[in-house]
Amino acid sequence: MAEPQFACINGELIPKEQAFVPLYDHGMLYGDGLFEGIRVYNNRVFKLDEHVARLYYSAKALNIELKVDQATLRKSIVETVKANGHRNGYIRVTVTRGVGLGLDPKHMKSGANVYISCEQLALYPQEMYENGLIVVTVSTRLPSPDVIDPRVKCTGKYINNIMAKAEANRYGAGEGLMLTREGYVGEATGDNIFLIKNGAITTPPASIGILQGITRDTVIELAKAVGLAVSEPIITQYDVYNADEVFLTGTAAEVIPAVEFDGRKIGDGKPGPITRQLIAAYREHTQTTGTPVE
Ligand code: PMP
Repeated sequence: MAEPQFACINGELIPKEQAFVPLYDHGMLYGDGLFEGIRVYNNRVFKLDEHVARLYYSAKALNIELKVDQATLRKSIVETVKANGHRNGYIRVTVTRGVGLGLDPKHMKSGANVYISCEQLALYPQEMYENGLIVVTVSTRLPSPDVIDPRVKCTGKYINNIMAKAEANRYGAGEGLMLTREGYVGEATGDNIFLIKNGAITTPPASIGILQGITRDTVIELAKAVGLAVSEPIITQYDVYNADEVFLTGTAAEVIPAVEFDGRKIGDGKPGPITRQLIAAYREHTQTTGTPVE
């Protein structure tokens, strides 16, 4: 028989099949919440402090007040992983404003709700890491920072990403690239994008209207540590098409090569040497750092 699985709601571990969201949870009614996806590697939670800090920054921006401090939330996350016995896996932390029918935050019937669950995860098939992804630019644009600041990882915003992903699926592509309202390269539906040209690495600036990915920050650090130049200029589709190598980064995707954009081969159409070097560096880093689950 399979081991029982647990979720954690507001600090309490409960069997997963009994873990429900209240009918009038604002997250359910209006997408009024935020979330983090976190990985566990080798019995260690990767970048736990960074993810929890980003969650609290998002909460501050949305004026959602968590009932617990960051240390307590980190402890709940680790305990949930431990209860599920996941040495490797994916954690989803969702925070909602709480329960209340009607959108006025003044009329909430409860404080913020915190939901934690863990799963096994393989986002893309292994051959995509070896052969690379096919990507298309989708018609869905990124919301601009005057609508919702891209640093806020709020659930409601993701309907846009879902539409973009569905569009990429219709083209038979592995990912969809979203542009900003001005037409600059932004990010994929759940990943940041990096280009390599003549040995130099570029990625769009976070301020353009994209999520400042924790994997993005990690890869920038790893690249700089081996002497690779990294800059954050405005990028257009022209730059993507003419790059020597392209890869995407995200907690779930990790570092994955992208070898075709909008019907154009990138470089020779195969994952390039710097991408492969960074995939290896990232894998090693994930296996050797993180908050122990014990
Ligand atoms: N952009 C978007 C839209 C995302 O959803 C994600 C995944 N969280 C990323 C980029 C990558 O962020 P991270 O590396 O922190 O997972």
